[in-house]
Amino acid sequence: MKTIPVIENILSANDRLALANRNLLDTHGVFSINLMASPGAGKTSLVENTVRELAKDFRVAVIDGDIATSIDADRAAAAGAQALQINTGGDCHLDAVMLVDALQKIDLSKVDLLIVENVGNLVCPANFKLGTHKNILVASIPEGDDKPYKYPGIYRGVDALVVNKIDLLPYVPFRMDYFTRGVEILNPELLSFPMSCKTQEGMIPWYNWIRENIRLARPAV
Ligand code: MG
Ligand code: ZN
Repeated sequence: MKTIPVIENILSANDRLALANRNLLDTHGVFSINLMASPGAGKTSLVENTVRELAKDFRVAVIDGDIATSIDADRAAAAGAQALQINTGGDCHLDAVMLVDALQKIDLSKVDLLIVENVGNLVCPANFKLGTHKNILVASIPEGDDKPYKYPGIYRGVDALVVNKIDLLPYVPFRMDYFTRGVEILNPELLSFPMSCKTQEGMIPWYNWIRENIRLARPAV
């Protein structure tokens, strides 16, 4: 079997570029997050809300990965971010090379927070580190409570979990205890932000966490 070493080499090349991205972001004191989710979980709504709130105090840039169209980047720009679209041309995830290219097009000396919106997909984005400081999974109530059991890889690898659309809990069969148990098996004590981008419930802890991390990433004066 020759395929396995080939894949390992691709992944380790990706990891090296991810490290270079991280160093570049650190040099400029930029705090960066990578948002991953299935399509329709509300990544772009989360981006819009986060940009609108954080742009009051910080300079925010958004890199939007999509298979086609610039709809999401347009929404991020309208919310007040410097926004850049990456069309992956059919690829179902972003990788570190794409971020290398995108970072060259942004003036990082004028950015405090970089939000990367990955392509909607719960499988391969988990395998490609980008070099961002925090990898974040956006789950949502209508997707169902079995997702940690079905997509363990992505739940295992993330630094924080957003559980969006909690306003829909009364209307869909979602067992929070079952969901939470699945998450805890894979990623004990995972930082979790239950919220609704629609009603704004639960968003303050999320904003505060981002603010705190931006401050920590800034070079000491
Ligand atoms: Mg989107
Ligand atoms: Zn993919």
